[in-house]
Amino acid sequence: MLLSGGQDSAICLAWALARFARVETVGFDYGQRHRAELAAREDLRREIAGLGADWRARLGPDTRLDAGVLAAVGANALTADLPIGTGPDGLPTTFVPGRNLLFFTLAAALAHGRGLRHLVGGMCETDFSGYPDCRDDTLKSLQVSLNLGMNARFVIDTPLMWLDKAESWGLAERLGGPALVEIIRRRSLSCYRGETGRMHEWGPGCGTCPACELRARGWAAYRAGRP
Ligand code: ZN
Repeated sequence: MLLSGGQDSAICLAWALARFARVETVGFDYGQRHRAELAAREDLRREIAGLGADWRARLGPDTRLDAGVLAAVGANALTADLPIGTGPDGLPTTFVPGRNLLFFTLAAALAHGRGLRHLVGGMCETDFSGYPDCRDDTLKSLQVSLNLGMNARFVIDTPLMWLDKAESWGLAERLGGPALVEIIRRRSLSCYRGETGRMHEWGPGCGTCPACELRARGWAAYRAGRP
């Protein structure tokens, strides 16, 4: 499973641990502005697996891959000091062209060698942030390409694809109760600026970037829906 250290992939780690007998995580270093997100991965792995003996037994190794070539082929607001906003092409300046396509391709190559069949990612089309590589059709088409190109039968699982952020928190609560929600709230980092110093009721972040605003709205909606 693709574990970035963000809220969505953290929920997917729990989803995978609840479903599969063996789960390995993979993370990518691509010169992102916030290495804090990569540090958050370690905390999330340890604490989420710590929620139960069966989850701990299922969690296999973590692999970190260098995807620094992404920074080399083009600057964007996640890898360089550019303003976070909308570019002239209508796409967010935080969009990294080819990122998820490359990540799933590398994850598939890794899984191929290990005999793993499912590739899990936290992509989501519902709170559409404008990323074309998070779309369901993009990933379904990639699944077909990977299977043809690697003579394999991979399944790309995106359990959050049709959930909004409040529903994602609800899924976390069903998977691991309030303890899992609390781990993800405190440990996962979604902020585009990678700010970890400020803790809000929805978690750490700068509070003003689009990712923080989305997370704050989702948390508020989740809390409002609870008795
Ligand atoms: Zn932020």
